[in-house]
Amino acid sequence: MLEVKDLHVHYGVIEALKGVSLQVEQGKIVSLIGANGAGKTTMLHAISGIVKKSGGSIAFLGNDITKAKAKNIVEQGLIQVPEGRRIFTGLTVYENLMMGAFLRKDKEGIQKDLQRCYELFPILSERTNQDAATLSGGEQQMLAMARALMAQPKLLLLDEPSMGLAPILVKEIFSIIEEINKNGTTILLIEQNAKMALSIADKAYVLETGNIVLEGSGKELLNSANVQKAYLGG
Ligand code: ATP
Repeated sequence: MLEVKDLHVHYGVIEALKGVSLQVEQGKIVSLIGANGAGKTTMLHAISGIVKKSGGSIAFLGNDITKAKAKNIVEQGLIQVPEGRRIFTGLTVYENLMMGAFLRKDKEGIQKDLQRCYELFPILSERTNQDAATLSGGEQQMLAMARALMAQPKLLLLDEPSMGLAPILVKEIFSIIEEINKNGTTILLIEQNAKMALSIADKAYVLETGNIVLEGSGKELLNSANVQKAYLGG
């Protein structure tokens, strides 16, 4: 579904991605783990068309999107939930969800998806008329995910959904990610929480200073001595 080949990204003289290749198969959960500064966010931004690539290629559903504009990539069904959630404060929960659907014109479909989001995240249904700024961190993460679902993603890119959340909420968010996947959405998950990210992944990659240093099934990487030492506290 997504094929990234030999991707390079520079910020001035800094090379943040040094020839990264990865694949995401339709229907799967793929996790990309790595420490601070490894290049995880750069990778997502490159796929979403937000940063310029200095080399390599990206194909989505067989189309070359290496040079495509961010809006065009969203229209093809590749939707990002950004790090830090970036919800629209000053707008209600409902209005935030509608922003996710702003490229759509199918009113009935939008209503159906709205109901689905409220079923998946009942707390959002209770908070529908509340200013999004007043939501807790966990609720804001749920809103950001629900807003992305309103755009009917074929592939959902999640940037550190566990960031800043209490362990119990992290568990809840990850079980919702699995449910979204079971309902048919393919997931590319970027995480520093290696244990959680690997435990739900069909396939996983380890990124270190701009290079993929390990890849395998989630289980293989959870059991890998190198991963345990570097990312799972021994
Ligand atoms: P974190 O988990 O801390 O968000 P990350 O793995 O997502 O880290 P990136 O944010 O992709 O890492 O950053 C990769 C490297 O590129 C880092 O060394 C970072 O300092 C650098 N970098 C990122 N954005 C820019 C920018 N706009 N200008 C210059 N350097 C940047």
